[in-house]
Amino acid sequence: MRVVNIAAEMAPIAKVGGLGDVVGGLCSELVRKGIDAVVILPKYKNLKTHFLKDLKIYKKNFQIFEKRRWQKTTIYSAKLNRVQIYLIEDNKNYFSKPNIYGYKADVTRFLFFCKTALEFLKSENKKIDILHLHDWHTAIIAPLYKEIYSKNTLKVKKIVLSIHNLGYQGYLKPKDIDNLGFDGRYFLQDKKLKDPNRPKTLNILKGGIIYSDLIVPVSKGYAKEIMLKENEKNLHKVIEKNKKKIKGIINGIDPKYWNPKTDKFLKYKLSCDLSIKKLIEQKKKNKKDLQKYLNLDQADKPLVCSIGRLVPQKGPSLIKASLMAALKNNAQFALLGSVFDKETTKEFYKLKKDLKNNKNVSIVFEHNEKLAHLIFAAADFVIIPSLFEPCGLTQMIGFKYGAVPIVRKTGGLAETVFDLDDTKIIKTKRNGFSFDKFSDNQAKKATIRALNFWHNNNKDFYMLVKKNMNLNFSWENSAKKYIQRYKNLLR
Ligand code: ADP
Repeated sequence: MRVVNIAAEMAPIAKVGGLGDVVGGLCSELVRKGIDAVVILPKYKNLKTHFLKDLKIYKKNFQIFEKRRWQKTTIYSAKLNRVQIYLIEDNKNYFSKPNIYGYKADVTRFLFFCKTALEFLKSENKKIDILHLHDWHTAIIAPLYKEIYSKNTLKVKKIVLSIHNLGYQGYLKPKDIDNLGFDGRYFLQDKKLKDPNRPKTLNILKGGIIYSDLIVPVSKGYAKEIMLKENEKNLHKVIEKNKKKIKGIINGIDPKYWNPKTDKFLKYKLSCDLSIKKLIEQKKKNKKDLQKYLNLDQADKPLVCSIGRLVPQKGPSLIKASLMAALKNNAQFALLGSVFDKETTKEFYKLKKDLKNNKNVSIVFEHNEKLAHLIFAAADFVIIPSLFEPCGLTQMIGFKYGAVPIVRKTGGLAETVFDLDDTKIIKTKRNGFSFDKFSDNQAKKATIRALNFWHNNNKDFYMLVKKNMNLNFSWENSAKKYIQRYKNLLR
């Protein structure tokens, strides 16, 4: 079976958040299970090419018609963990920017990428069983294929669209499609891409949902959440109409990349096979190292961390409440946040300034893969107080690296984290701390509950850490479910 993934991210070469982890992890596992999985990505300027094998030019001067001109692109081929990759380089400065997203021209950039990917597949003339798209960045491929390319020589059996985050949909005007050399107004119809709220605007994700054969939200809980009218005011009707095609599959984490037993970033490796005494020793050594690195007090205190994109979805004010609770309850806090909108992070910049001399807190604004690994391995808790969370990988990584999650019960978080004090859940399943309401107070209370557990039941805390490290969130099971869905589609 040949599965071609087209995506904006793939870990570890191009990653902003979970989308990258998913594309990287899923495709490696598919290949391990005998599937011919291929990935097409933009060739970003900051692509971590040192992870790639056999990177070479595959097609030179590959011409794409855009904005009434022929644009030259170059297609590269390479291998990443046995997965065949194709990288698209443009001559228009679309992907030679420092970041993957965050530009005014994002829609134009990804439209160009999608058209080039389709033209490339057409030129290859190889069979494609499944075309697997991810989020709005590549969802336009579904309507373009069904309306245009399927009538050419490109033959795809079925299209799958994974929805990692319905919050980002990709809006454009018909002229943006005209720029690709197609008729944009044709898509401005209720049954096609017309946005439900803006009559002159096209909505890429809506098009992806309508034209794909299978829609996969990244957890069962998220699949249920997006079907609720109160959550999805925007695309509710479209989702309702396409309900039968929607089947949630929970993500996993790449067992090779997120393995504290072999993690090359860690000086002191962790594993659930270690004796409890040794495990505590290793966790504490990692903490000491991190404290040195971040210039924190070298104290034997619980360490809470937050690692993520600082956007409203992630509950910045709740993160702040948790941070303040940690400082008031004899604990430390490490925040590693990728800065997106200035408005959301303004408060954190101020906080960083106000707490500049506090040796119990560290706030770092950047995307730093190595530091993320070091923090996960050193921390006792990871706080994830999201407003909504399609799946969430940080809690899974937390389990593996011995950082107990403190989460708000939503989407994938509610499916994976079970409160230690919840007597309705069988004891063996309980693995973290959780709360219901999206409020600062609840985040604070849950943090205090977690810290009290560390202070008052320290031995039990490490027993929990050890038990959690044994939980299996690897791609193995989820990849099996994807393969089953692909097979059902092709039947
Ligand atoms: P989302 O996809 O919404 O960003 P997930 O929890 O699904 O959230 O995935 C987040 C992934 O991105 C994790 O692998 C996490 O470690 C990583 N990550 C997020 N922010 C940063 C950062 N600032 N530095 C390093 N890694 C980060």
